[in-house]
Amino acid sequence: MINVTKSFLPPFETYTKYLEGIWSRAHLTNNGPLLLELEEKLKDYFGSEYFIFLNNGTSALQLAIKGLGLTGEIITTPFSYVATTSSIVWENCQPAFADIDPNTLNIDPTKIEALVNPKTTAILATHVYGIPCDVEAIDKIAKKHKLKVIYDAAHAFGVVYKDKMLVNYGDASTLSFHATKLFHTTEGGGLVTNDEAVAHKFSYMRNFGHKGQEDFWGVGINAKNSEFHAAMGLSVFPYIDELIKKRRELTELYDDLLLSGNSGIVRPSIPKGTEYNYAYYPIVLESEKLLLSVRDSLLAEFIQPRRYFYPSLSSLNYVNKYEVPVCEDISKRALCLPLYYELEPDQVKRICQIIRQVLRFKS
Ligand SMILES: *Cc1c(COP(=O)(O)O)cnc(C)c1O
Repeated sequence: MINVTKSFLPPFETYTKYLEGIWSRAHLTNNGPLLLELEEKLKDYFGSEYFIFLNNGTSALQLAIKGLGLTGEIITTPFSYVATTSSIVWENCQPAFADIDPNTLNIDPTKIEALVNPKTTAILATHVYGIPCDVEAIDKIAKKHKLKVIYDAAHAFGVVYKDKMLVNYGDASTLSFHATKLFHTTEGGGLVTNDEAVAHKFSYMRNFGHKGQEDFWGVGINAKNSEFHAAMGLSVFPYIDELIKKRRELTELYDDLLLSGNSGIVRPSIPKGTEYNYAYYPIVLESEKLLLSVRDSLLAEFIQPRRYFYPSLSSLNYVNKYEVPVCEDISKRALCLPLYYELEPDQVKRICQIIRQVLRFKS
């Protein structure tokens, strides 16, 4: 079976070396040395003032919303993983969906202002597939209406935009280090911010609100992560350039084999000034019917692509209705093909052959 993704595992001995240290210290969680080392490494890598390691990307979203004190309505994208929307509702806010740009598949900044009303407190946008949102336009709107900006950067690890890491834009960026992501810690996530007061809030909120043993800064939750997860992060981190390079090579091969000769396949476009991370390989087909035949033909050969992202989050049964025709159309036609470190060029060739076979017989 060739799945849409496969977790990268570092050499076994690298991880067990860290385990020996954990065993000798018997310090398993609560700001252990491996966690502090990983936080420092990632903060330097991002070039950010603060990085807070968390147990997953969903609690990162929830802490961002809570920590920035958001209430009322949050303008967001309908084209993302469900956690982007569910976190808003979980924090007792309402999502207001702005339609997406048909080229980048990110939130369309020209659709945002029409949704701003006195209840609006923030914009929560996803850099979908690691493609940068129009951060300048979003920043301008946010300043004008005094809104906070959170980026769901779960796909954007390592992406550079205009000479700085993408995660530094906005009031906070949330990351996921789930096993399926480009960089992972098995389960895990984090928050990037360059604001000291916000970072302080995030860090006490992640640990029950503790201010020392017997005092509390305020309300908190348990969103900490462990030494075992930090050890996985430290073991995977040295490979990040190699992981990105391999994905770039496979992406170029896919492009060569799929985009030539009027295939009708469209790829989302990446804005100028981006150093991309090749996190995913999404294609947009001409119709949902074609997408389903491509998917079924791949499945018949034990190849599992995924409909990232379908359905449009605006169709969830716990949100208010918004008109997002571009997202509704594209979410029916977007498919992510397998892309991971161990995927072989020959396997990419086979996948493309199957897809081109289907497209040849399209009606
Ligand atoms: C994976 C993902 C999340 C959730 O992260 P977890 O670590 O699985 O909780 C949130 N948003 C997006 C866009 C994701 O892809």
